[in-house]
Amino acid sequence: MANVLDDSEIRRVLVVMAHPDDVDFGSAGTVATWTDGGLEVVYLMVTDGDAGGFDDGVTRARMAALRRAEQEAAAAVVGVRDVRYLGYPDGRVEATLDLRRDIARVIRQVRPDRVLAPSPDRDYARISPSHPDHRAVGSAALDAVYPDARNPYAFPELLADEGLEAWTVREVWLTGGPNADHHVDVTDVFDRKIEALRAHASQTAHLGDGLPEMISGWLGANAGLAGFPPGRLAEAFQVVPTA
Ligand SMILES: [Zn+2]
Repeated sequence: MANVLDDSEIRRVLVVMAHPDDVDFGSAGTVATWTDGGLEVVYLMVTDGDAGGFDDGVTRARMAALRRAEQEAAAAVVGVRDVRYLGYPDGRVEATLDLRRDIARVIRQVRPDRVLAPSPDRDYARISPSHPDHRAVGSAALDAVYPDARNPYAFPELLADEGLEAWTVREVWLTGGPNADHHVDVTDVFDRKIEALRAHASQTAHLGDGLPEMISGWLGANAGLAGFPPGRLAEAFQVVPTA
């Protein structure tokens, strides 16, 4: 079992993801429990998801605008009003120094106690959450948490030019990786998770009525692994202490 900070010790959470919809597939139920509990949650999307969707004549620039609008609608369903973007090209994300600095900047701006990010580790049992963009963002986000955001001598221009003081994130939650050790019961907010996923119509409309069944299958399996009672639904995380 993971050693997890109680939500009462957390004021703000920064969610760093590669693409619009990543947070909703993996974590929107958990985000709803956080905002319901009074935590402030900010989303940071590294790309606009402009390589996603289907070849139906939509230009890539139009797709980027559409996917930002979809993400903002999905965020509102689970109580998140602050959605930020870095505008990196979808499908070509690498864990560069530039990306680490750009995530560290937002960490210093938002000053979160907890960061939620994709796992940098590949899951050989379930390949789709291990998309290369996800692993790159997870690696850069962890590096941004430690050491970049907390070390005043890392990316000194953040302090010198932008006045952003060093900030220590206390805990990182990783999603989509092979080593889940913490499960959140999201049964009571399942309908909002589905509504958030449906807001990503360019990605989920083709699933139709099959969407809730697919998601409840995944979440039911998570709950079973966690030892929750039959009929419960759970999202799965690996929690990394970083204080
Ligand atoms: Zn993704």
